[in-house]
Amino acid sequence: MAALRHGHYARMAYRALSTQASSRSSSLPLTADGKFCSPPIATYAENASPATVSGESSPAPLSALPTGVLFRSLFVNSISSRPHLLSRAISFMDFLTQPNRPFLFDINRNKLLAWVVRRVAYRHFCAGESGSEVRQTLKRFKTMGFRGTIVTYARETVFDYHKKGVQGVEMASFSGKPTDPCPNIQSWRNGVLETIDMLGQGDQLAVKMTGAGPLVTGALAAGQPLPEQMSTALMAIGDECKQRQVRLLIDAESQLYQHAIAQAGLDLMKVYNRDGQALVYNTYQAYLKGTPSAIESHLMAALEGNFTLGLKLVRGAYLATERRDLIHDTKRDTDDAYNAIAHGALRRHMGSIGGQGGCPFPSVNLMLCGHNKESVFGSYALHRQRLLEGLPTVPVGFAQLQGMSDEISFGLLRLGERQGPGPEVYKCSTWGTLMECLGYLTRRALENRDAAGRTVDEYRALKMEAKRRLRSLIPL
Ligand SMILES: Cc1cc2nc3c(=O)[nH]c(=O)nc-3n(C[C@H](O)[C@H](O)[C@H](O)COP(=O)(O)OP(=O)(O)OC[C@H]3O[C@@H](n4cnc5c(N)ncnc54)[C@H](O)[C@@H]3O)c2cc1C
Repeated sequence: MAALRHGHYARMAYRALSTQASSRSSSLPLTADGKFCSPPIATYAENASPATVSGESSPAPLSALPTGVLFRSLFVNSISSRPHLLSRAISFMDFLTQPNRPFLFDINRNKLLAWVVRRVAYRHFCAGESGSEVRQTLKRFKTMGFRGTIVTYARETVFDYHKKGVQGVEMASFSGKPTDPCPNIQSWRNGVLETIDMLGQGDQLAVKMTGAGPLVTGALAAGQPLPEQMSTALMAIGDECKQRQVRLLIDAESQLYQHAIAQAGLDLMKVYNRDGQALVYNTYQAYLKGTPSAIESHLMAALEGNFTLGLKLVRGAYLATERRDLIHDTKRDTDDAYNAIAHGALRRHMGSIGGQGGCPFPSVNLMLCGHNKESVFGSYALHRQRLLEGLPTVPVGFAQLQGMSDEISFGLLRLGERQGPGPEVYKCSTWGTLMECLGYLTRRALENRDAAGRTVDEYRALKMEAKRRLRSLIPL
């Protein structure tokens, strides 16, 4: 039922892109188990079709993709869309990240293996291994029409709840005196500041705090104050972002660390989000059952502290390594949660905050990240509709990962061309050495496995575009 209701809602939302339909303002109360209720179906026009999004008379969104990238995407998607091939690819990637591998499977020593992984997977999903490579990638996205790229330095630590251990590039534990500077924090700080240096106009920074190594992850896991050196590093990064007018998006990571990461993000917002807009964003994972109440408490903090809440919304990427009972029981529940949060923020009404009789809704800037057509275009339609009708809403940006869902990214850009002013659309990419990015690459493969329907759709769209280009080479 829920799937049908949302499919219906998305179709109607698609339709709202080309028609100026009326809507009624609605409330989004919290249910007894802490979820925001899904938005009721507004009176968007009936009989909508996704074709109205891309515009049947205009070229397909993927026509903007350079030919080399198109054929690489086709190859990667031909694997992602076949579960038996993808499972083997995931096992292989997972094996490559294990310590003490034989020479044949050691990316650091086997140059041929490194070359293959770099050509097939790394270049597809990652921005580069050096400043010059990353700058080239960012320039390429800019020329394709994106507002900018959100760039992350890849170093991270993932806690695997099932194996009760950490994954990630090995970082030696710090055994110096507490007053000595920790080399892991120092090199993370340098890596992040180097990332800011690579950014151009419109590009944004994302950070993974666990990349700062065991001293920091230990404090995050125990809920203890961050080491002084880390707090100083975060302030230096915040100052640099403020000076360069670069947004600082703090990634959501494994649950073991996430509560403290979100708290650190909130503390940074209190400092930097003071002038009516968000410089700093926290990431909220819709797959977690506890997210609606976490958002509600952060909205209250923003209201009471008089700062803007930077709300970056994702579904969540750590399904394979997290405690399962913290996560919604079904994909549909996660989808509903994502849509309810996105729509609640866009309507400025979540739980007891906003709406008639609730306390005032604070200043919020929204960044919707994801590859789910229904969520992306449904949210875009709702935002546009509210703007057209002069209803209160919040500023919103959209982002997809490099190498994923280009059809959605270019579809959003195309909407701007047709309906201008268009949505703020970003690509999001990770940079670092091949070894540093292996965990990230494995997560992308796992994510594709968890969204089988989407990958098949993407593959079909890429195949159609490839055929169209090949046909255009054949003289009539
Ligand atoms: C720009 C950008 C930034 C991102 N930053 C972060 C970040 O900081 N932290 C982070 O964790 N992720 C991050 N992600 C990754 C994001 O979480 C994944 O892209 C997302 O999970 C994939 O979902 P989707 O929204 O694209 O939709 P879909 O592909 O439709 O959904 C897939 C997702 O649904 C959920 N899911 C799948 N099966 C089930 C199930 N059985 N039960 C419950 N839920 C299920 C999982 O979250 C899965 O990843 C980011 C993504 C983007 C695009």
